[in-house]
Amino acid sequence: LCELGEDHENHKVDADHAAMLWDEGGRYGGAVWVRWNTERAELVPLPWCSALDPCNEEACGLFAGHPSGHSWEVIDPTDEAITRVLAEQYPHLFPERREEGGG
Ligand SMILES: [Zn+2]
Ligand SMILES: [Zn+2]
Repeated sequence: LCELGEDHENHKVDADHAAMLWDEGGRYGGAVWVRWNTERAELVPLPWCSALDPCNEEACGLFAGHPSGHSWEVIDPTDEAITRVLAEQYPHLFPERREEGGG
């Protein structure tokens, strides 16, 4: 499953999808990703994005030069939709969503 967000291919030149396969544990200083589009797929070792979340200083979970927003800006549309429905039906289970929906 692509980790770059729902609509990155609609407005970026680099429209390849990407998903992390495994963390290389420092050998490359990054992780191995699969990148694919409608014509091909390839495995590529990529360094981590060096950006930090300004809110909590957690490192971005995507590769350097990724085309879409950083990992904290990408909202998994499926997870978000499910959580939203549950939160509407069972608000007592999601007290944190009254604020911002932590993480
Ligand atoms: Zn994608
Ligand atoms: Zn990033």
